[in-house]
Amino acid sequence: MPSPASLTVVLGTGGTISGTADRATDNVGYRAAQLGVAALVAAVPALAGVPLESAQVAQLDSKDMSHAVWQQLAQRVAAELARPDVGGVVVTHGTDTLEETAYFLHRVLAPAKPVVLTAAMRPATSLQADGPQNLLDAVTLAREPGAAGVLVVLGGRAFAADGLRKADAYRLDAFEGPEVARLEEGRVRPTGPWPRSAPLGLACIARAPERWPRVAWLTSHAGFDAALVDGLRAAGFDGLVIAGTGNGTLHADLQAALLRARDAGLEVRVTTRCASGRVVGGAPDQPVGPAQARVALLLELLQR
Ligand code: ASP
Repeated sequence: MPSPASLTVVLGTGGTISGTADRATDNVGYRAAQLGVAALVAAVPALAGVPLESAQVAQLDSKDMSHAVWQQLAQRVAAELARPDVGGVVVTHGTDTLEETAYFLHRVLAPAKPVVLTAAMRPATSLQADGPQNLLDAVTLAREPGAAGVLVVLGGRAFAADGLRKADAYRLDAFEGPEVARLEEGRVRPTGPWPRSAPLGLACIARAPERWPRVAWLTSHAGFDAALVDGLRAAGFDGLVIAGTGNGTLHADLQAALLRARDAGLEVRVTTRCASGRVVGGAPDQPVGPAQARVALLLELLQR
């Protein structure tokens, strides 16, 4: 007998997983966000007998992700999760901002049911298309009894959203982060605990996205020009994340500009521009890297 919560809802947002190129050998000159989510599901024969519903929430290259789409997506995912017949939700997404969307959903929803984001590093037309297997793995994980939280599946690995980073621009195994499971031949092999935390809740993101705090991210580097920080302050930004060098160190000119910015009321958080690791000696709960640190500061300011 099917369990009462056996339905999986697949929400499409675009990305390379739904991208097409003119030639099967073209893995870079393609257009993202061309195929609808129903076509992605239909392209995986193994999903034919699985109780699924699909819906298109957005259709964009995730490099162009907006706060408006995040708000819409979080609200839609929450509505689907609230249905007693739904056991889990899958979101198809681009890889470029996957770590940001996943972290956003993790902090806002921290769901007890699995919300599995998946993507692809090759378009659907590629000889090497990884989208169909990733989608199948994502649905498998969303149907796994006991799985919970916002998870990201690519290349046979499932990661927790918190701490995830796109680490390679081209390879199929492009992501690094806290692994929670392996997907092997249609089975889930847990390798870490499912993420659990307290959700901020949808009320925190309820206001119109154009009235969300303005939070920028800059990187400290040789020859840093402090005019960048002064310009953001003058433009009325509310928050600023700095990807510092090494263990969060800052160019002296940047540091001086940040003191001026702080005096003017700008919230500043410092992370590292290094490809891995967190700032040692920094806040114990600091997000990994500037992409997730920017989302964290945005959500912190939204709660004020
Ligand atoms: N530009 C694409 C996107 O993020 C890249 C990808 O999906 O791999 O939508």
